[in-house]
Amino acid sequence: MTITPEREAELLASVPTGLLINGAWRDASDGGTFDVHDPATGQVLATLASATSEDALAALDAADAAQAGWARTAPRERAEILRRAFDLVTERAEDFALLMTLEMGKPLAESRGEVTYGAEFLRWFSEEAVRDYGRYLTTPEGKNKILVHRKPLGPCLLITPWNFPLAMATRKVAPAVAAGCTMVLKPAKLTPLTSQLFAATMMEAGLPAGVLNVVSSQSASGISGPLMKDSRLRKVSFTGSTPVGRRLLADASHNVLRTSMELGGNAPFIVFEDADLDKAVEGAMAAKMRNMGEACTAANRFLVQASVAEEFTRKFADAMSALTLGRGTEASSKVGPLIDGGARDDVHALVSEAVAAGATVATGGAPQQGAGYFYQPTVLSNVPNDAAILGSEIFGPVAPVTTFETEEQAIALANASEYGLASYLFTRDHNRMFRVAEQIEFGMVGFNAGVISNAAAPFGGVKQSGLGREGGAEGIAEYTTTQYIGIADP
Ligand code: NAD
Repeated sequence: MTITPEREAELLASVPTGLLINGAWRDASDGGTFDVHDPATGQVLATLASATSEDALAALDAADAAQAGWARTAPRERAEILRRAFDLVTERAEDFALLMTLEMGKPLAESRGEVTYGAEFLRWFSEEAVRDYGRYLTTPEGKNKILVHRKPLGPCLLITPWNFPLAMATRKVAPAVAAGCTMVLKPAKLTPLTSQLFAATMMEAGLPAGVLNVVSSQSASGISGPLMKDSRLRKVSFTGSTPVGRRLLADASHNVLRTSMELGGNAPFIVFEDADLDKAVEGAMAAKMRNMGEACTAANRFLVQASVAEEFTRKFADAMSALTLGRGTEASSKVGPLIDGGARDDVHALVSEAVAAGATVATGGAPQQGAGYFYQPTVLSNVPNDAAILGSEIFGPVAPVTTFETEEQAIALANASEYGLASYLFTRDHNRMFRVAEQIEFGMVGFNAGVISNAAAPFGGVKQSGLGREGGAEGIAEYTTTQYIGIADP
């Protein structure tokens, strides 16, 4: 389907531009606004109300007032709201996909993939809402009883990044709804439109006023600061960079808030000589190029056994150089723009530094000329192990390749990072898979798989990649607190 300017304008006009507080859309208390841009053209897409600290506190007032009643609703009722929301998001998949492409830049096919992935959290947690089990047991002494059950935590602050505008919101909102928590959601200022439309969809699905409040704003700390000082807030769930996560953890210590921190990553992609190399290249393309490399799970360091490094690098570079760059709305586009000029400059600085340190450009290596923040799909070989590009999140379509000789070396190189989110392992040897998985310090391992995110799996990291898990059976526990009742010998 061709995307006409009229179709874009009609969709943009359907997105609420206000703050969602206590079930009503309203202007910011000081009348402030901010613009949202299309990274492929630099054009303004929409102007939204920019929440102030006062608005953030009004959102918490609403969440706090709704909390007790919401916690008492039947789990089945919460489940059915989530299931209706899943159906509505699925029905409107094309609208959500186009909106993400417009504000974030990824090609439409990828945005459609994100709608499927993001909506799945609504369905998964609609099923989890009614399966929140406790336990009842006799004490070891044999007389008294122990009753353990879980309760909703209370009002939560949810802060999301710009790179997956729908999935990062549903991954937090769905388990919070399932658990019976109320929320204040603050989307990233670069891509808030999807959250605005998603919140409108949640209201249409029957979510009561005050349960989900949305305060898009150009001042992130102006929202989180006052909320995290307020004793009515019980939790902050953050997805974003490690430096901001660290700051929020410090702020959370003030009221000893529960925290979930989904932070940065620096995923190793390990290819052993016994791997199916074509499958490894296919996996590498998915793990590197999904979201133009702007993903916390993006393969960042390609560690390839020396005997197959040349062949792997050649095949990988051929596949990367065949990709077409363009605005995500064009059917031919396989690679969209990076989110802004700063992001593109950062990527190029890492590439330039690696090349100056001795890396070889197998393909790409430069920004694309013209409008939009495009960067050429790039493969670098012979990257020195101390190059900055191997130590930092690249967040762009650049793949540095380095080599190892033995399994022990591969493990040591993989673990030489302060991050521990996703990792990828390509080998035909299942014993090796278990051996390596046990020794690498990562929350997630893709075994012969380049994409591992799934609503039914616990997503999260170790080390400076964060705390807590989203999705799976673990996801709902992040929004509950455990209470134990000791019962005297009945
Ligand atoms: P970011 O840390 O700059 O921003 C994330 C969110 O925090 C945004 O909503 C932003 O407005 C807000 N924020 C920024 N400064 C803040 C402050 N001082 N106080 C309160 N809130 C603040 O990250 P980003 O650039 O939006 O996203 C990219 C980062 O997110 C990467 O590091 C990536 O790895 C990470 N990420 C992690 C996961 C995961 O699940 N682990 C998923 C996606 C992205």
